[in-house]
Amino acid sequence: MTEKLLTCVECPRGCQITVTLDDGKVVSVVGNFCPRGKVYAENECVNPKRVVTSTMNSDIGVLVPVRTDKPVLKANIFDVMKKINATTCKTPIKLGDVIIANIDGDANLIASKTVK
Ligand code: SF4
Repeated sequence: MTEKLLTCVECPRGCQITVTLDDGKVVSVVGNFCPRGKVYAENECVNPKRVVTSTMNSDIGVLVPVRTDKPVLKANIFDVMKKINATTCKTPIKLGDVIIANIDGDANLIASKTVK
């Protein structure tokens, strides 16, 4: 059995959560004030995901801030970054425009800023 200490980031309360794992499987979750914390902690231990934020080259030579519109598996972040680095987006771009649809599963890459 191993224990993992986490801070829930699902809301500003920041509950300190202890997850007990047995052979990689979650046995117990304590310290979460609400069910969202349990789901967060289980995912963080078994299937961690992150929103990817980066910049992308554009056709006018300006770097465009971009991010995924959903968290992607941490294991897939390297592949997402390769796709971002291999792409040059066309301007103008509005905040929230999809630049690469389904960059990882159902997560899209979107613009974080309007660039004219
Ligand atoms: S467990 Fe619930 S209350 Fe605690 S930080 Fe997470 S979302 Fe907020």
